[in-house]
Amino acid sequence: MSAIRPLLRYQNARSRLRQPRGLASSVEPLRNSPQAPPPGDDHVRIVEVGPRDGLQNEKKAIPQHTKIELISRLARTGLTDIEAGSFVAPRWVPQMAGSDSILQHILTSPPQSPGPINFSFLAPNARGLKNAQEVLKLHTLDASNRNTIEISVFAAASESFSQKNLNCDIATSLERFKEVIQGAKAHDLRVRGYISVVLGCPFEGRDISPQRVAEIATNLLEMGVDEISLGDTTGMGTGPSTRSLLKAMHAAGIQNEDIACHFHDTYGQALVNTAVSLEHGIRIFDSSVGGLGGCPYSPGATGNVATEDMVYFIDSLGMKTGIDLPALAEIGEWISGEIDRSNASNVGKAILGSRRRRAGESKL
Ligand SMILES: [Zn+2]
Repeated sequence: MSAIRPLLRYQNARSRLRQPRGLASSVEPLRNSPQAPPPGDDHVRIVEVGPRDGLQNEKKAIPQHTKIELISRLARTGLTDIEAGSFVAPRWVPQMAGSDSILQHILTSPPQSPGPINFSFLAPNARGLKNAQEVLKLHTLDASNRNTIEISVFAAASESFSQKNLNCDIATSLERFKEVIQGAKAHDLRVRGYISVVLGCPFEGRDISPQRVAEIATNLLEMGVDEISLGDTTGMGTGPSTRSLLKAMHAAGIQNEDIACHFHDTYGQALVNTAVSLEHGIRIFDSSVGGLGGCPYSPGATGNVATEDMVYFIDSLGMKTGIDLPALAEIGEWISGEIDRSNASNVGKAILGSRRRRAGESKL
């Protein structure tokens, strides 16, 4: 009976989802999937997570003006989505202290950008949302500001990771998010739901149930979340495990346009997993400039896949991001220097290296 109950709940959740979903079959070739994008759907939306997910996992304290400068520089590259900060208690994540003044800055002196930008802030609980709302109340977006503000919540796909990070089990965390999501929605804010460790957990290993991830995603979507970001926090994901996860999401009736993939390059598989996701029809990917970030449970491990590498890869497929790659490469090099780490983007280093070589040749 206990095995049947979650399944029934899951089926009920499917029928209540916002839009009619295509029928699912795990043996169906991905190419013929009813969710496959129509031909010509070659635009990929990149969500730059460097200023939050990236910097949060760097050891060195980052001055406030550097964070603001990073956001301003990124805004000029054509990025449409930037994760800018986190309303988490500073005693937990000291690097994210001052996110209120970053939000204030974005509202009062919007960074120059070629188009509107969606700025995202993590609010792990009702208190975080309240702190964000205090700032939003004082500085409402006026008509001349085309940008939008998004709130995000953060669930885990494994019980151990949830306990370590959120001090509660998954069910309790989802219950807490309800208040945050409803509060954000009441103020017309878009909401993003992260699910971490979807392809491997530092405590439970690779054996994460794709169906459980899909169930958590369904719960979040039902609560009103606009987009789910599937986080391979440990970088343990492989092509086959990525495919299984996306099939499980599809089988749960979750549409591709509601899914972002968030790969870490710890084992060098991030772009392989991106290729698998693109083939499945996913068109939203998270990445961080210069490969900022890391995994707090694997010292020395690399962080998020670098945005430069992601944009180069997508360009190479003839798809479009609208992002200025050389400008991004410069930002990756600059921020790596600011925080005293080596630039983790292969593409960034290659672009800057060939530029230096050309500059050297022209002087001869
Ligand atoms: Zn990440």
